[in-house]
Amino acid sequence: MFLVLGILIVIAVLLILRPWRRRDCRWRQDSRKLADGRVFFTCAACGAELALPKGRSPQHCLAGET
Ligand SMILES: [Zn+2]
Repeated sequence: MFLVLGILIVIAVLLILRPWRRRDCRWRQDSRKLADGRVFFTCAACGAELALPKGRSPQHCLAGET
């Protein structure tokens, strides 16, 4: 009984945290600048794209997010 419960907990944790998606992004600042002054970042690891206000940099990976 406890074994089944343990397996269920492990599955739930895996589904919630999705550790395999927690890769570190390698953000690169794109030379393009957007018209409104934001800076464009692209991730070399997963291809995510992000536009942030000037002076800020992405803190987490967007891999797997839509
Ligand atoms: Zn990434």
